Amino acid sequence: MSRLQQYVEESKPLAKLGKPVDYIPALSKQPVDQFTVCILDESGNQFLSGNTKGKFTLQSISKIISFIYICEHLGIEKVLEYVDMEPTGDAFNSMVRLEITEVGKPFNPLINAGAIAVCSLLPGAKKEERKEGLWQFIERMMGEKVAINEEVYRSELATAYRNRAIAYYLKSKNFLKGDVEDAVDIYTQQCAIIVDVEILARIALIIVNDGVNPTSGERIFSKKIAKIAKALLITCGMYNDSGKFAAFVGIPAKSGVSGGILTMANHANMEGLHGKLGIATFGPSIDDVGNSIVGMSFLKRLSEGFHLTIF
Ligand code: GLU
Repeated sequence: MSRLQQYVEESKPLAKLGKPVDYIPALSKQPVDQFTVCILDESGNQFLSGNTKGKFTLQSISKIISFIYICEHLGIEKVLEYVDMEPTGDAFNSMVRLEITEVGKPFNPLINAGAIAVCSLLPGAKKEERKEGLWQFIERMMGEKVAINEEVYRSELATAYRNRAIAYYLKSKNFLKGDVEDAVDIYTQQCAIIVDVEILARIALIIVNDGVNPTSGERIFSKKIAKIAKALLITCGMYNDSGKFAAFVGIPAKSGVSGGILTMANHANMEGLHGKLGIATFGPSIDDVGNSIVGMSFLKRLSEGFHLTIF
């Protein structure tokens, strides 16, 4: 058995620990005994394990993509007027810090407050036009058309009391542009975009390759923004475990409450995969902070086994 497969097998029993996220009604039903992995290198070599075409929704992982998009359009200086780039140490949907420090300004774009603020900044006059612009960008990253899981989207929007509270608070402090409900709606839709681990690994590969799709050679965003995105992923990407993840795994990563993790490596050499890698895992059982338990366990083994840490 290859070492990669060995790490998968060693991690798999953990898929049963924890439970799927329960505050989004449609996600609480996900079967827990799944674990899928996709690793892609710059030359198109890949490692696949499990049902890599199995679908799930982006959730929080979408936040890094919309952040990159808005930075490309407005420039980082403008974006920083609405959202900071500092870790919080609080839950992703926490409101507590919005009332301290620079009052009302979200700490970073990877928590809900920051991501909703980003969705309020999308260029365009009408909601549909603003959403379309973002979708077109996401499609260039994904390499396929955007599709929404309607059940997940509707069930989250119907129960998005906390996100609405955050968004109205941001509006009252002038950190949300335009219509509040529009921003919450687009944010909830981007969270419900359907992906699989192969799509996530492609997105990760573009980020680690500084904005260029290595297959087509197309530049999708600038190197400057790629650098900022990777720094954000390292400092804020894994919820309240970001510090420990940086210490023990040491690669830029973003997780979502549906159980996906997008991550990447800069200079790997592992069993037929070389150079920059896009890495994605999916296992729906999450821990208390929101990270996939089986995914975290696999990534720790992977990073230790193949010396992936950037530190
Ligand atoms: N749609 C989820 C929310 O707003 C995303 C949370 C996450 O994946 O961290 O609560």
